[in-house]
Amino acid sequence: MERTVYLDNNATTMIAPEVLDAMMPFLRERYGNPSSMHGFGGSVARDIERARANVARFIGADNDYEIVFTATGTESDNMAIQGALAYYKDKRHVITTRVEHPAVLSLCKKLEKDGYRITYVPVDRGGNLDIDILKESVDDDTAVVSVMYANNETGVIFPVEEIGLYLKERGVPFHVDSVQAAGKIPINVNKIQCDMLTISGHKFHAPKGIGALYVRRGTRMRPVLYGGHQEKGRRPGTENVPGIIGIGKAAELAMAHLQEYPTTVKKMRDRLEQGILKNFKNSHLNGDHDRRVPNTTNVGFEYIEGEAILLYLDEKGIAASSGSACSSGSLEPSHVLRAMGVPFTSAHGSIRFSLSRYTKPDEIDHVLAVMPGVVNRLLDISPYWDSVKQEPKPINV
Ligand code: PLP
Repeated sequence: MERTVYLDNNATTMIAPEVLDAMMPFLRERYGNPSSMHGFGGSVARDIERARANVARFIGADNDYEIVFTATGTESDNMAIQGALAYYKDKRHVITTRVEHPAVLSLCKKLEKDGYRITYVPVDRGGNLDIDILKESVDDDTAVVSVMYANNETGVIFPVEEIGLYLKERGVPFHVDSVQAAGKIPINVNKIQCDMLTISGHKFHAPKGIGALYVRRGTRMRPVLYGGHQEKGRRPGTENVPGIIGIGKAAELAMAHLQEYPTTVKKMRDRLEQGILKNFKNSHLNGDHDRRVPNTTNVGFEYIEGEAILLYLDEKGIAASSGSACSSGSLEPSHVLRAMGVPFTSAHGSIRFSLSRYTKPDEIDHVLAVMPGVVNRLLDISPYWDSVKQEPKPINV
């Protein structure tokens, strides 16, 4: 394999070198337990608090206390929803959307089995949320509303500020899964007026296995785990110190690099997208063109299989994805594209490219140079495409 062009940053990102450097002392000599009485451990606790302050600043939180470190985005999502339900024991209704990550959707399916009523708000062909349905669904029985900020497969951004304003008026707790927004667009919990917000380190150049949940002061919820006093009892368990230091540094770097996303990163993303859409008659964009995070494009190809495109791209050293990392591996087309009404056939031929601030323009050139060979090779063997006439084959029924 000549080179690796990594365009799967919505699945995970590389650890920024500065993040790794910041973490190393805590993997080597500074291994003390932050809860220890001695200075060897206690000094580590002060570094944790510095990391907490960085994460609080990153999402515009008023108070460092509002940041709870967890292990993953999945854990934070679960903690937000289950924590609210554990407090509001009499309320049996949860509102979410049809296109959430499995971290929310699988939990909601389980809650349904336990007798909860779940409203899954639909999206339109562009992946935009039907906010009127969301508003109409809120009732006195609603314990929590959980909506993603940006979709992992299409990058489409939901109007979380409008939702937050409405839910504030109705007095309903609001959780935002901002795993795919963090580091790509500015986040401000006070503008959103949410009560809880999830982030995950490995999506913005921190290591895997560290996440955080923002919990606004005064939010009514109960812990999901019980144990020691760590994280003020809200999330017990000895802290993942290197991970916390890593996410703190990654948050600081993300703030410093945020301005590159609407310019440099978006420019490369748009060049890649336009190059593909212009070159292939059988391709189209999945998701709203404008309301998107700047690093993501999801392109659907008619008459060919997304998995096959991925394999050929992989041969050329290009890493992309046919959906979210968690749903690939199954032959079912993505639930996100299906919820958008993308036909079964073209949902099967969809590829997601997701860039980062480390993506280089010549990597985009490489992908654009490789794509015609890959797509035309697959069209040549497609039972649905006539490569001589350059048109779809008539279907004999
Ligand atoms: N929420 C969204 C929108 C995601 O994209 C992901 C991961 O892809 C998660 C939650 C889960 O995060 P983690 O991998 O840290 O558990």
